[in-house]
Amino acid sequence: MTDTFDVLNPSTEEVVQAIHMASADEIDQAVAKAKAAFPAWRDTAPGTKATLLRRFATIVEEHNEELAQLEVLEAGHTIGNARWEAQNVSNVLNYFAGGVERLLGHQIPVPGGIDITFHEPFGVVGIIVPWNFPMPVAGWGFAPALAAGNTVVLKPAETTPLTALRLAELALEAGIPEGVFNVIPGFGKVAGQRLVDHPEVRKIVFTGSTAVGINIMQSAAPQLKRITLELGGKSPTIIFADSDIEAAAKAAPLAVFDNSGQDCCARSRILVERSIYDDVLAHMESVVKGMRVDNPALDTTDMGPLISQTQLDRVKSFVPDNAPIMFQGDAPTGKGFWFPPTILAPVSQSDRLYSDEIFGPVAVVVPFDDEADAIRQANATDYGLAASIFTNDVGRAIRVSRGVESGVISVNSHSAVRYWTPFGGFKKSGIGRELGPNAIEHFTETKNVFISTES
Ligand code: NAD
Repeated sequence: MTDTFDVLNPSTEEVVQAIHMASADEIDQAVAKAKAAFPAWRDTAPGTKATLLRRFATIVEEHNEELAQLEVLEAGHTIGNARWEAQNVSNVLNYFAGGVERLLGHQIPVPGGIDITFHEPFGVVGIIVPWNFPMPVAGWGFAPALAAGNTVVLKPAETTPLTALRLAELALEAGIPEGVFNVIPGFGKVAGQRLVDHPEVRKIVFTGSTAVGINIMQSAAPQLKRITLELGGKSPTIIFADSDIEAAAKAAPLAVFDNSGQDCCARSRILVERSIYDDVLAHMESVVKGMRVDNPALDTTDMGPLISQTQLDRVKSFVPDNAPIMFQGDAPTGKGFWFPPTILAPVSQSDRLYSDEIFGPVAVVVPFDDEADAIRQANATDYGLAASIFTNDVGRAIRVSRGVESGVISVNSHSAVRYWTPFGGFKKSGIGRELGPNAIEHFTETKNVFISTES
């Protein structure tokens, strides 16, 4: 394995930059640096920590356009999405900066003394980031980790290290002390694995494939290392006949094709009540065929390329020549990892198209018979990350929300992620929750202290 990786522009296949990939020894050095920086960061006054994180947020916001352009270049994200993603980092830093001074413990009534709890930081936290949302996923890990008083070693994905490296520079500019926030690019099997195995790394936050997530859980077990895993999905949109059918049908493709389908929350199974199946497909067709798949740097582009040749080959393998294509949009030809938005129907429930995460712009449309069948089908995969339910019946909206085994559900909407609400999955979609009011506590150990008043 060479020690450099060529970061490619997925729209053109041109090399953007060759990046040095860290060895296991270099990870050890980064962990040592983070460990050395930990006591001073932990003991920094809460108000000072909060001010530094807010300053970091401001500097990220001031560099929004630069970071967004970098994400277009390395990840092929549309410029609109990339600006939102950079802003998300800034918002998440501000949100968790507000938690530093509110990391409250309890005072618990006990006889003979007082009992109080503290939230103590772990020490060094390792964060392993995928390529699909390099900036937000990094921020969801490092912002609460730093706010809780930990230091961080973050390993970005091989294909998308550039924005994370820039964020580390901006942290220094903001006055976050050297060694507190370290970004080290490297291969998963070398640098990522070492981060998981390193005894001084007390918690791993991992976002990526379920297969690697399982491997991380196994590797972490002998040390009882704390883990948060945010893994894959095969999420449903469920459209009932009593919904605003046209609006639901037109929104459904966008919940799959955003970020070219490379989204763990992609609602790639569109479940439709049988009586409106044809109507829904008819409304969807104009949206899918009207999508502009083009240079992601253009403001007019709806969808860019896939991240890599590997990912393109994977997506293509799900759509062979005899695939049941209902309709397909257009995509550029020639250089770049392009795949058109594609709707497949009908698809049998035993087909891997129905159960496997494709992580590309491909959705299946499947009929259901009634509410019970909709819930059964929604739950008929190993995953349980997101779900969208379209109905105008409030009781049904609540019954189905409670019945679907997913961590993030939206009714008459496709929103999944707000940084101030919890995010994460049931079943093989992960363990633990990111974001929201409790996330900062997930970067601490609870310590209970009893003080006798009797001596
Ligand atoms: P991956 O799980 O291989 O990689 C994610 C991150 O983990 C990268 O930083 C990688 O370097 C690192 N990694 C890989 N092997 C590791 C190991 N043994 N120890 C520690 N770290 C390791 O994901 P991928 O190859 O980037 O994508 C493959 C599939 O994963 C996709 O097709 C998709 O199904 C899924 N995926 C899901 C998400 C999500 O947000 N849920 C994100 C990315 C990928």
